[in-house]
Amino acid sequence: MSKLSLDRILQSQGFGTRKYCRALIEDGDVAVNGEIVDNYKLTVDTDGLVLTVFDDEWTYREHVYVALYKPANFECSRKPSHHPGVLTLLPEQFAWRDVQPVGRLDHDTTGLLLMSDDGPFIHAQSSPKRHVPKVYQATTAEPVTPELVEQLLAGVQLHDEPAPLRAVSCVQRGENGIEIVLEQGKYHQVKRMLAAAGNHCNALHRSAIGGLTLESLGLKEGEWCFLEQAQLDLLA
Ligand code: URA
Repeated sequence: MSKLSLDRILQSQGFGTRKYCRALIEDGDVAVNGEIVDNYKLTVDTDGLVLTVFDDEWTYREHVYVALYKPANFECSRKPSHHPGVLTLLPEQFAWRDVQPVGRLDHDTTGLLLMSDDGPFIHAQSSPKRHVPKVYQATTAEPVTPELVEQLLAGVQLHDEPAPLRAVSCVQRGENGIEIVLEQGKYHQVKRMLAAAGNHCNALHRSAIGGLTLESLGLKEGEWCFLEQAQLDLLA
């Protein structure tokens, strides 16, 4: 059980500055488990807490873990330069909570992107020591050949890597399609591996991280959902 003052709780959930949260409470815009509370000092148990702010219900979460179906033309960077940032696809509270992408997808890559405000989780997931398979579908400029598949499986040398990088698995999908499973997350890895093997990536999509698939989440492009513990366990 964890008890905190209502203004702190509201701030922790991303509703704005402490001052703004106090004003919301004093104005009678906040209900705690269905009852309006206008005393911001009131200490409240966060277990199973449901807040209503204006008319929106919000279940208290110490941290948020989110899966987003990233569309093309959104940047994962914290300071996007040419396209809107992926955070603009999530509720405004998430920016206040400092929710960040876990790793990155290129602006033109679509598919499964994890996001969270849990620093240690982000760090652990992004660690190079982790070998969680990530599944990509690439559309290539030149037809996929058995030699291309063999090269990607055997390993290709990228100019800034000490050793060749290899795909864990690689399967041709149609004339210009290939499914590549990687355990590392190097910068532009799929595109650079395809280029090093003599082809070119025209389009890229990530369909799964570990056992967590976009399909199982039932998300459409641009949609997001919270991930619960059982789904996070699939990332191990
Ligand atoms: N590899 C790439 O080249 N781009 C991505 O966005 C992800 C993996």
